[in-house]
Amino acid sequence: MKTTIDNIYNKSRRQDEKKLKIWKYAGLMLTYKCSAACEFCYYHCSPQKKGLMPIKTAIEIWQSLTMMAGDRALVHITGGEPFLYFDHMLELLRKASEAGLKGPDHIETNASWATGTSVIKKRLKALDQAGMNLLKISFDPFHAEYISRENVIRLAETAKAILGPDKVLIRWEKHLQPPCCPDDNCNREDLYRKALQVEPCRFTGRAARTLAGLVADKTIEQLKEYSCHQTYLDTKGVHIDPYGNVFSGLCSGIIVGNVIERPLHEIWQAFDPDTHPFISMLAKGGPAGLIDSAEALGYKILPAYASKCHLCTDIRQFFFDIGEHKSIIGPWDCYT
Ligand code: SF4
Ligand code: SF4
Repeated sequence: MKTTIDNIYNKSRRQDEKKLKIWKYAGLMLTYKCSAACEFCYYHCSPQKKGLMPIKTAIEIWQSLTMMAGDRALVHITGGEPFLYFDHMLELLRKASEAGLKGPDHIETNASWATGTSVIKKRLKALDQAGMNLLKISFDPFHAEYISRENVIRLAETAKAILGPDKVLIRWEKHLQPPCCPDDNCNREDLYRKALQVEPCRFTGRAARTLAGLVADKTIEQLKEYSCHQTYLDTKGVHIDPYGNVFSGLCSGIIVGNVIERPLHEIWQAFDPDTHPFISMLAKGGPAGLIDSAEALGYKILPAYASKCHLCTDIRQFFFDIGEHKSIIGPWDCYT
């Protein structure tokens, strides 16, 4: 198990200075492929996207996280829609159990596959036996554009009966009541605006491209006061995509390392937000710290942004489109 002092940034901090937290959770993004293409998606997932995390890679991440955080290590399985590769996911859980690893904290799904009770029962029983702790069903007005409410209700009710109510979570259950676009004859933009007022949104990925404009009310001057130093230090975990790219917390599309090249615990040990070639700019000056170099290459500042993450994603999208900072801004799936 690692201690904070094992990280290179923490080693040079004074005792009273804030340290980089040990990563305790890892979201294994089994695939970028999804049965939906929600406007809210942080990762630009859709039916056209690809990728499938090899079982060997997933197990190595799991082991590495456990090496770092011990009993506090929490792995969850996400996507894309992981149930599109159900057999692969089940095999992963079985292999993890054989390797002596703790079962996944939760598995996320959008319920698109839950079209009948027999398939639900069969799959959930198998996952339960393989060690799944919690089934997390995503639902809100953004998901409702692609996924029927009936599927979500069917999955939730069957899951509660099989797994027990404590092992099923719908995020967010309140949206199961109308109005919930598009079948409730409501105005799509109004519903989105209302949902954005209630639910937190980072405005990264597709959310930055399609939703942020609905609530953009901050000028670049107002965003200059936000840095991301604290965000990087306080983040308790990572998301890892099917190709092994590691993203700190929910900062999708900013690659801090790749587990195919070096194990996760070594990436954490070597991660220094103050010296990293790209992240240091975000850490010191927030996304506004990227503006000068972006403008020099032709970036045009928008009249308003929804948040610092909207600004960050908009500039990164610009860099991605012109092929700048290629090893850090990617992969393709996150930006197209
Ligand atoms: S938010 Fe979830 S369900 Fe929607 S496109 Fe992204 S991964 Fe798929
Ligand atoms: S501004 Fe960028 S680096 Fe900072 S928290 Fe948002 S996505 Fe992450």
